[in-house]
Amino acid sequence: LTDTAPPGVPEPARERIGIFGGTFDPVHVAHLVAAVNVRHELGLDRVLMIVANDPWQKSGSHAVTPPAARLSMVEAAVEGVAGLEASGLEIERGGVTYTADSVAELRSRHPDAELFLIVGADVADELASWQRVEELRAEVTLVVVTRPGTVLSAGALDGWRARTVVIPQLEISSTDLRERAGTGRPLDYLVPAATIRRIRDLALYAVDR
Ligand code: ATP
Ligand code: MG
Repeated sequence: LTDTAPPGVPEPARERIGIFGGTFDPVHVAHLVAAVNVRHELGLDRVLMIVANDPWQKSGSHAVTPPAARLSMVEAAVEGVAGLEASGLEIERGGVTYTADSVAELRSRHPDAELFLIVGADVADELASWQRVEELRAEVTLVVVTRPGTVLSAGALDGWRARTVVIPQLEISSTDLRERAGTGRPLDYLVPAATIRRIRDLALYAVDR
């Protein structure tokens, strides 16, 4: 045990990384409020906002905006924000998106880090339907953020190392924002200004602004 630190010498702190996956179609202020508040409350070094390549639980029901455009909107949203990073990890991997693959990849890149998987309460309620849940449970602490209109079912967090973080309740969803954009109503203050510019530049959501 020659490489063990002598008594009194503190171990280097393990990096604390938040993993916040989403379709982000488009990213909105509730996503960002969740990310910065979890980072603050749990003292995370950084939060990766990982853009799903092909969200298998969604792509059957409606057309999802191409992944590169969704990543570009998240990049615009977090530019200059300390501790928030847009991640194209799942897009680079390609194919159908399983969080377990992303966690495994982050674990191999950061063997010593503490990993925190951040989900809204609506998503936390559906964890049982995810692929390879056992693997996830072994690798991460689950962080559930409160979301208006969602009450967690009893037992939803059983088997997880879990924390709940209460955040300001913002009744915003990407579904509503797409609907708004499609009918020409403003996205201002619901979506960061830089992201709105990106939406305009990329001519997304059939909106003429
Ligand atoms: P959609 O309506 O397309 O499902 P969304 O607004 O739910 O979009 P997602 O990309 O599905 O956004 O969500 C990414 C993550 O952000 C999920 O864990 C989700 O629970 C969380 N989240 C989204 N909106 C909110 C909100 N208003 N408050 C708290 N958490 C949220
Ligand atoms: Mg959603």
